[in-house]
Amino acid sequence: MRRLPFSRRSLLAGAGVAMAARRARAWNREQKIGKDWPIYDRTEEDALLGVLRSGKWGRIDGSRVVEFERQYRELLQVQHCVATANGTSALIAAMNAIDVGPGDEVLLPPYTFVATLNVILLQHALPVFVDSDRATFQMDVRKLEARTTPQTRAVIQVHLGGATAGLDESLKFTKARGLKLIEDACQAHLGEWKGKKVGTLGDCGTFSFQASKNLNSGEGGALVTNDEGLYDRAYAFQGNGRARKVTSATLSGWVMNGANLRLTEFQGALLLAQMTRLEGQSRTRETNAAALSKMLKQIPGITPQVIDPGCTRNAWHLYMFRYDPSGFAGLPRAGFLKALQEEGVSGMGGYTPLNREPFLKEVLGSRHYRKIYGDAKLRQWHEQNQCPENDKLCAEAVWFTQDMLLGEAKEMEFIAEAVAKVQKKAPELVKRG
Ligand SMILES: *Cc1c(COP(=O)(O)O)cnc(C)c1O
Repeated sequence: MRRLPFSRRSLLAGAGVAMAARRARAWNREQKIGKDWPIYDRTEEDALLGVLRSGKWGRIDGSRVVEFERQYRELLQVQHCVATANGTSALIAAMNAIDVGPGDEVLLPPYTFVATLNVILLQHALPVFVDSDRATFQMDVRKLEARTTPQTRAVIQVHLGGATAGLDESLKFTKARGLKLIEDACQAHLGEWKGKKVGTLGDCGTFSFQASKNLNSGEGGALVTNDEGLYDRAYAFQGNGRARKVTSATLSGWVMNGANLRLTEFQGALLLAQMTRLEGQSRTRETNAAALSKMLKQIPGITPQVIDPGCTRNAWHLYMFRYDPSGFAGLPRAGFLKALQEEGVSGMGGYTPLNREPFLKEVLGSRHYRKIYGDAKLRQWHEQNQCPENDKLCAEAVWFTQDMLLGEAKEMEFIAEAVAKVQKKAPELVKRG
């Protein structure tokens, strides 16, 4: 068994840091932590050239997107999958498949990528924020009940960073109330809840294959579901409203309104190639994240994200922890991130509070929203959508990105050692201001 580079006591004494420094010496701060992303070779080159030379570049003519849908379905053990142009459009297809519209309220977490909010606004529905649980970084599902009204139509639960929390509770709650549960799994490829893939447990799940995501085709997305009716509608919506099974040779068969959200054959082929790497990469991230947590937990002021025991597999799209300046002589987070960067480790401060976005205030004050909801209700919205826990979380979060977790064990030691070094230097950094 590999020895931990330092224990809490030796860390405080400084001896463990010296040892970690020796172990991490093979690594130096000029090198990038983790792997250059994306990762590809001849497999991807051949896949893309195959599509190019076939002359069948769109899904209507080719077979790569359909084959991707089949393999992704199999991988996730889910009945239906429809590929889309990106994760945002998978969410748009979901909103339209379950018929969210003006006057409807949709519950969502304030700690997520802006797309989760935008797709609600595109339907002219009212976003209703459910505060965060700072320990898990996820939506606090215990607060769903209090935010539900007779107008509530759906809940979007985001598996943020690749983990999830309280999914049994939200499944039970939405079922009992007749609400739809959309799992925004755009960051959670291969993530699991009690042994089942996330995205397959609610009414539908959405994935993103945008360049930064763990499965990548530059842009791309998918919606998965076990509900055939929902699948039919989502499929139709992504192809300008045309039914899935069109027998007529004429250009007809429109069964609903829709848009063109189709994935191209190039992306389909790229995804099939990238998918062969996904399981191996996920395992590397898991091993590295576990090692990193063991080391970082020992550093006062650093609290790694708590993983709900029901989350049996974390996709580790993000490695997240909370930073407490009091463990670092009062050094603010911005100073910590800067000092960490100087040690060769790039961290990020992550999201800002979505419920406080100025653009959201503008949308809610727009002609359309005032017409649909009325001024009194919109005034009330501002009072009711405070998320004090999330405000704190946004101020204390630190992220490392998934590509950093693709490195070797010694690189994780290098990261932990850099954090320990910053801690040692913190009083000096605070004095310098
Ligand atoms: C990336 C992401 C999206 C949007 O996906 P795109 O492919 O970028 O459109 C939606 N929700 C979450 C949580 C995401 O991380």
